[in-house]
Amino acid sequence: MSKLKAKEAKEIKEKLLKERELIVQKLNGNDLSIDDSETPDPVDLAVRNYSKNVMLAVSENESRQLALIDEALRRVEEKEYGECQNCGKEVNPKRLSAIPWARYCIDCQQLVEQGLLDEETA
Ligand SMILES: [Zn+2]
Repeated sequence: MSKLKAKEAKEIKEKLLKERELIVQKLNGNDLSIDDSETPDPVDLAVRNYSKNVMLAVSENESRQLALIDEALRRVEEKEYGECQNCGKEVNPKRLSAIPWARYCIDCQQLVEQGLLDEETA
């Protein structure tokens, strides 16, 4: 597949949007609606802060994935979907079906994981 067919683009978009929805729901679920009206004792407070930090770490991952999904959606619109954002080669369709928001081909992904590729400027 060199260029996406309209039908494929639609399917990918739906898949991405569905995934996006799930993450948004998850993020909303992380909204710690702690009742701060009562005066918590110090131990209680520590536990709360701890779980808050854990939640924040989770949110960071999700937010990052959200950004990747938005990026992938944009690539679908711009008909660039399926191209590696580093080398411009076609990303393996199997890889895309497993990770629809993948930015890179396997080779470049390995470079990213080894810290050999600067993700932000790629
Ligand atoms: Zn590549």
